[in-house]
Amino acid sequence: MQKGKINVQTENIFPIIKKFLYSDHEIFLRELISNAVDATQKLKTLVSLDKYHGDVSDLTIQVVLDKKKKTLRVIDKGIGMTAEEVDKYINQIAFSSAEEFVKKFKTKSEAEMNALIGHFGLGFYSSFMVSDKVEIYSKTYKKSGDTKAVYWECDGSPEYSMEETDRKERGTEVILHLSDESKEYLEEYRVLELLKKYCKFLPVPILFGTEKHWEKVEGEKDADGKDKEIETELPRIINNTNPLWKQKPVDLKDEDYKKFYRELYPYNFEDPLFQVHLNVDYPFNLTGILYFPKVKKSFEVQKDKIQLYCNQVFVTDSVEGIVPDFLTMLHGVLDSPDIPLNVSRSYLQSDPNVKKISNHITKKVADKLEELFKENRADFEAKWDDIKVFIQYGIISEPNFFDRAKKFCLLKNSEGKYFTFDEYEKHVKPAQKDKDGNLIYIYSNNLTEQYNFLEPIKERGYDVLLMDGILDAHFINALEQKFEKTRFTRVDADNVDKLIKKEEAIPSKLDDDQKNKLKELIEKQVEKGKFTVVVESMSETGQPMMVMQPEFMRRMKDMSALGGGMSYMGELPEQYNLVVNSNNEVINRILKEDDEAKQASGIKELFNLALLAQNMLKGKELSDFIKRTTEMIGK
Ligand code: ADP
Repeated sequence: MQKGKINVQTENIFPIIKKFLYSDHEIFLRELISNAVDATQKLKTLVSLDKYHGDVSDLTIQVVLDKKKKTLRVIDKGIGMTAEEVDKYINQIAFSSAEEFVKKFKTKSEAEMNALIGHFGLGFYSSFMVSDKVEIYSKTYKKSGDTKAVYWECDGSPEYSMEETDRKERGTEVILHLSDESKEYLEEYRVLELLKKYCKFLPVPILFGTEKHWEKVEGEKDADGKDKEIETELPRIINNTNPLWKQKPVDLKDEDYKKFYRELYPYNFEDPLFQVHLNVDYPFNLTGILYFPKVKKSFEVQKDKIQLYCNQVFVTDSVEGIVPDFLTMLHGVLDSPDIPLNVSRSYLQSDPNVKKISNHITKKVADKLEELFKENRADFEAKWDDIKVFIQYGIISEPNFFDRAKKFCLLKNSEGKYFTFDEYEKHVKPAQKDKDGNLIYIYSNNLTEQYNFLEPIKERGYDVLLMDGILDAHFINALEQKFEKTRFTRVDADNVDKLIKKEEAIPSKLDDDQKNKLKELIEKQVEKGKFTVVVESMSETGQPMMVMQPEFMRRMKDMSALGGGMSYMGELPEQYNLVVNSNNEVINRILKEDDEAKQASGIKELFNLALLAQNMLKGKELSDFIKRTTEMIGK
């Protein structure tokens, strides 16, 4: 037997492994199974190179839980290791890298450390996070030279022991003697949960069973001289070794993608809208499927997220920094060995490889959207309300994406018609061009509430866009910056004739003195500071008074409410224009009224009606107004 100290120069890292790395203990299983998968894949490679001719009919990896013995075993039929290799790979290389990992991050906080270990494991030595003792049995695939099987044991101190053993089967078995603090991994459901999380799509079949599946046969020994075990129940294969993203898109149907979506998110009962299958091998390696989910109306916390894999091993489901922000709301999987996971998020964002990957994903998503748009516009329009939030977010946040998206991004008008940017421009030109040559896009964010303002605008032959999405306010800002000489203005921002300032003004029935008098009379009846009275000559059939909030004022207020750049100004007071139509007949009658009390109450009621139209007449005022109107009807 050979005994030795793993590395004499260093301090004992085992207590640190155990103590420091709390929350992500569970990754030990991923690490061990990844090693088993690697060893199996290496064997497959040797076979394909005609360098190994042994039996490879069954390469299943077994995970066996033994509650009585308090062990968890991972058994593979891969290339195995000779004594020399165990010494080299386990005692030296693996230990050094574990040590380096522990040292490198000892200065970091526990939280940072845990975040890192989740993405980038300690390798084989992570098994000591959960074990008092770890044993390895291994037998190399080699048929010549040192072919003897080897046994290795370490109890969580830097000392190990190693000796020859008479194991016959090729491959490696790692036996974890789980510590009392890690009892949870003796529970079948818990191990299954981990297997489902990390190993669902591994390329080698993983068989999971508990001790009751492999029961000892009394008095009988197997070929190794160990107690013979037989399967009493069928253990289960827990993984899909050929997940859809690894398959060729040409071989797949829409139904296959839907089925896979359900496999990824068993608790999401909504079908995805469509998907983008990614497949790149140069200049980096990336495969994956991104699904556009059906967005729910209420903005619930996203539980179904994009899953990131590295060669089919689950790594994480927080892909911020890797996927452009606006695509993190998509669902699906990404698999790339080229994404450096052992680095911080901020580093990730500046990593040129990650940038390339991110740009590529953006491009692919844009390609797909353009293709859908071109192939079947009606279908694209039918999906628009569900996908617009992604596209708008992309346009707001990714300059590259805007260049692509302007071909298929749609605007919807109040009649439910869809237009591309170019089509819309043609549709509203020249009617909505003002005297300064600006194109004015009029929009409503609530057709019902703003109906009163909408109708006169439509009658005037103008078009009104419906902008009622959660991102529309930001989207409008973004478009104004991207489009030359185009301004957006809400239906209730000003009177119709002023929304689009034309050269020819409507003549006024009142002269300047009369207008001033009217203004004074009205100012007496309304709250100062909140309402600015503006007398304007509008169409005779136009309403007598309207409460309006100029576009820039509302946007300033929105910005200050969002705590943006304007927040230093504090909360802005509510400010509105009370627009009075000097050509309206009722206004003219009231102006000529001799009975001052009657005149005042007339103004008051017109003002109340204007407030009512904006849903701003509330409380006592509203109640009094209803009472008065009821009495009037009774008269
Ligand atoms: P990594 O997998 O990142 O190389 P590990 O610490 O997990 O680091 O493993 C160190 C090395 O030990 C592996 O690279 C491999 O050579 C060897 N090894 C570990 N597990 C096995 C196994 N099940 N079969 C064969 N070799 C293994």
